[in-house]
Amino acid sequence: MALIVQKFGGSSLATPEHIRRVAKIIAETKKNNHRVVVVVSAMSGETDRLLNLAHETATMPQERELDALLATGEQVSAALVAIALKSMKITARSYLGLQLPLLTDKQHTRARIIKLSTEELKKTLEQDIVPVVAGFQGVNSNGDITTLGRGGSDTSAVALAAALQADLCEIHSDVDGVYTADPAICPRARHLGQLTYGEMLEMADMGAKILQIRSVELARKFKVPLLIKSSFGSDKCTWIVEEEKRDMESAVISGIILSHNEAKLSVIRVPDRPGVAYQILSPLADASINVDMIIQNASIDGYTDFTFTVPKTDLSKTRELVEKVLPKIGARELCTDDGIVKISAVGLGIKNCPGVAARMFQALANEGINIQMISTSDIRLSCVVEAKYGELAVRVLHDVFGLEKNNSFNPA
Ligand code: ASP
Ligand code: MG
Repeated sequence: MALIVQKFGGSSLATPEHIRRVAKIIAETKKNNHRVVVVVSAMSGETDRLLNLAHETATMPQERELDALLATGEQVSAALVAIALKSMKITARSYLGLQLPLLTDKQHTRARIIKLSTEELKKTLEQDIVPVVAGFQGVNSNGDITTLGRGGSDTSAVALAAALQADLCEIHSDVDGVYTADPAICPRARHLGQLTYGEMLEMADMGAKILQIRSVELARKFKVPLLIKSSFGSDKCTWIVEEEKRDMESAVISGIILSHNEAKLSVIRVPDRPGVAYQILSPLADASINVDMIIQNASIDGYTDFTFTVPKTDLSKTRELVEKVLPKIGARELCTDDGIVKISAVGLGIKNCPGVAARMFQALANEGINIQMISTSDIRLSCVVEAKYGELAVRVLHDVFGLEKNNSFNPA
């Protein structure tokens, strides 16, 4: 008998019919003698609808009230799932974040979890009642409702699984797991049965929009096994596990990811002296702008070019901030480019397989694709290329690393 946290995303709860199907999945799990804690998102589109309402009402809605508004989406679905379960003669009880309570800090719209009390839930489980918890929301020490940021119900689910020491956290949505590439771009993409937390973090970060990234970090920290599943009847699924539990024969590269989220900025002819990188980047840090790749060339005549990427949504703000710095550091000009994409190969084997980078660069060169920037981690290789080549690059790299087959790339 296992304790399983089952989280259902908005697409799985889109209509009353969907909700009855979710209730059947929960009932099935209970029938197999497991104890279940359910966590739900808002019905699909509901959070956006509420956000739009707020913005139609006022240009700058106050964040405390935004949280009070957005949290209603999950309140509705938690109650509906409990209603569906009860109609199937399964005792269930819905819970809001503040009823547990899930205590957060005082940041509205992106609160961090401070403490999650499990007493109430444990009591409920002991009475063989299925708790149905509204995800995405909590309460702060003032008693105000908070939310955990978009996609935050994944984080609620993992936090609950960690706090209850559950055996497993299942994430149900309309996707049946992670693929070697986006099947819409690369028809030969293959479903992956298993990934490590590290690989999933690199992938989520690169734009695989399956899970809120924070939830994977939390799962890794507390060693909560994650299972990504579809509630629409696919029997495939992807496990996210610790590296030690990963198959011995895992491929060198697990997936190719295309990210459209970045823009590139180059500060041209920066005097090469201590402190310039700090002067350029510290105003961005103060404005909470995440700088991803950074390249600084060796100086030739006492000047260098300083190039970096930021999220596209932060481009105009970044431009404004860096333009103010230019005269202070004596740089010549700032060039920006939002017509770029980042293409990444992610896989555990990168760290001990020296041929991988060369293979990647050669494949791109063969297609005449120019690499503008390169960055690496021990399990990721990323290149910035012109946006129009992004999808081609995915297919080419998928081929080169043999990802359509379940075998490992042999660099020899
Ligand atoms: N309903 C919230 C959102 O759309 C939280 C979630 O779905 O995880 O962002
Ligand atoms: Mg979601």
